[in-house]
Amino acid sequence: MNYEGVIIRPPSEANSILLQVSQGCSHNKCTFCGAYKWGRFTIKPDEIIMGDIDYAAKHFKHQRRLFLCDGDALIIPQKRLLNILVEIKKNLPWITRVGVYANSKSIKMKTIDELKELRSYGLGIAYMGLETGDDVTLEAIRKGADAQKMIDMGRKIRQAGIKLSITVLLGIAGKKRSHIHATQTGRVLSAIDPEYVGALSLMLIPDTPLYKDYEKGVFDMIEPHEMLEELKTMIANTDLSRGLFHANHASNYLPIRARLPKEKRKTIELIDQALAGKVELKPEHLRAL
Ligand code: SF4
Repeated sequence: MNYEGVIIRPPSEANSILLQVSQGCSHNKCTFCGAYKWGRFTIKPDEIIMGDIDYAAKHFKHQRRLFLCDGDALIIPQKRLLNILVEIKKNLPWITRVGVYANSKSIKMKTIDELKELRSYGLGIAYMGLETGDDVTLEAIRKGADAQKMIDMGRKIRQAGIKLSITVLLGIAGKKRSHIHATQTGRVLSAIDPEYVGALSLMLIPDTPLYKDYEKGVFDMIEPHEMLEELKTMIANTDLSRGLFHANHASNYLPIRARLPKEKRKTIELIDQALAGKVELKPEHLRAL
């Protein structure tokens, strides 16, 4: 397989075939993100992508899922993206789900019918970074969308029948807006009602604008117990009809995996126990992105 740059994929795609169809992120402006700072967003040539599909067809016969890398592959023009899905279906008929990262811009660029068309050719899940539902923080981190746009774009994916996994970022609003971040994120998640929510805990990455703000004293990192308070408030304010809320990423202090709404109360009680010092938190040196 032809891989260039750093390949990033959601934790739940750890066992998937990773097909790199683009490089970088078309937005590439979020102040906390150091993932693709090395270069411009490009779509890989069709002959390389088709060569990789051929290779995967010969060598990856046991994997049932495939993830289209990099940062925002949904932004690939419809005809090209559809062609990639068609080739995957033809050459790897055992693949049951194709996943992709999406952001508000790439979702906006597709019509609902185009998304449904992608769904019918195998696109089964989109991963969208919400980070926060707080408009002030969304603007501060240069996410490129306000909360209402995030709600509209998240709902659009769901209306197309594509599963949606949303990432939120504990600590991203700093100390002063921590509570607002938690309540507003819960509100936006409830409005979108995705199948999955993944909460990560902020880790500052050197050379990012947010890191520089932290060094200048403009941005305050919250403490581990404040992250837990944030997580607790967020879960308390999140009403999903039937979703999985997990905070078991390597960056988190307390692993959580809760079916909502069923396990909401139990999860909040577990966080309360951790806040009371009755449950051990992950030591700082074991956290990772
Ligand atoms: S949209 Fe995602 S990958 Fe792109 S800069 Fe923002 S956080 Fe990073």
